[in-house]
Amino acid sequence: MTRIVKRAFKYRFHPTDAQAAELSRTFGCVRKVYNLALQARTEAWTLRQERVNYNATSALLTRWKKTEDLTFLNDVSSVPLQQALRHLQVAFTNFFAKRAKYPAFKSKKRSRRSAEYSSSAFRWRDGRLTLAKMAEPLDMAEPLDIVWSRPLPDGATPSTVTVSQDAAGRWFVSLLCDDVIEQTQATGAVGIDAGLEHLLTLSTGEKITNPRHERADRERLAKAQRNLAKKAKDSKNREKARLKVARVHARITDRRHDHLHKLTTRLVRENQTIVIEDLTVRTMVTNHSLARAISDAAWRQFRTLLEYKAGWHGRNLVVVDRWFPSSKLCSACGARTERMPLNVRSWTCRCGTTHDRDVNAARNILAEGLSVTACGGGVRPQRANVRTGLSPAKQETQRATAGIPRR
Ligand SMILES: [Zn+2]
Repeated sequence: MTRIVKRAFKYRFHPTDAQAAELSRTFGCVRKVYNLALQARTEAWTLRQERVNYNATSALLTRWKKTEDLTFLNDVSSVPLQQALRHLQVAFTNFFAKRAKYPAFKSKKRSRRSAEYSSSAFRWRDGRLTLAKMAEPLDMAEPLDIVWSRPLPDGATPSTVTVSQDAAGRWFVSLLCDDVIEQTQATGAVGIDAGLEHLLTLSTGEKITNPRHERADRERLAKAQRNLAKKAKDSKNREKARLKVARVHARITDRRHDHLHKLTTRLVRENQTIVIEDLTVRTMVTNHSLARAISDAAWRQFRTLLEYKAGWHGRNLVVVDRWFPSSKLCSACGARTERMPLNVRSWTCRCGTTHDRDVNAARNILAEGLSVTACGGGVRPQRANVRTGLSPAKQETQRATAGIPRR
């Protein structure tokens, strides 16, 4: 059996000077419109308790374009600006569903520079891609010089195109296409624990380490960041130092992405049920440790990849509630320990079983996920009961959240 899914194919490209200038202008306008709309929605709510939806912001955009000091918004394609309003709408939906923090303003220096084009704003012909506003008419525009590092599926036609530039100055284009996925059956079930020392630990006992060179890259990153902090503001040397930080960062991100791609593909191929913990809240806590920041980013990416691949292949991804005491339970007898400091890497339960901390946690996560699926799942936990330490069997349905809560 096969199934058709939407899939993004991302490539680097080399813009001409004119294209780079046009895209930079577009990125700036996208950021401006996003921030204006966020401001309008925030003010409407805090001052008048009014909710402003996507359609209302779209009407505002029309008005802004007629304002004297915002006429520059007319110089770029209107499609990415509309898409920015849609992205803001998604950010608010996630916020109201308690999946995300309140949307933040896009900063010129720190935010991702990107613009999304729907099909009315680009032309795709014989593998050549041209974007709106690059020239009039579009036929005259020079296609993007894309580095085809892997082929698009046969006959694929992009429905959405996203252009972006990373902090290291590299240009990317992502093409969203229909792709055919072979449906296969799998029998395994696995629980996954996220950690700092090891990236992930599986209930099978397997430990997934960070990508090769990650430790060395991380040291290089820390050094580059220290160097950047010493540079005078707005100096030439500071810009150089900033670029150095961005390059090391980009390398870490690329290697991690590659690593997680391979890993999630394997996990989804081998297992029908995959159980993970909901770490959303942990990732929201500001943490200044570099290792933690990187592991949090890896976890977010891991979960995203796992979610969409599980969806493609018809696998069950079960997300266990964040209050589940995965490291405090004995996976052999179910007894609960009151204290389990982070530095305890292995311990022996009263029942005599000696546990590796992370493997034990992963096994508990798996058992919890399976019990929830068996009970029909989807039961929201009673927060008050969760931390009481009743035997795991008695509170299994209260404690966990099943299914794929995102989207
Ligand atoms: Zn025990």
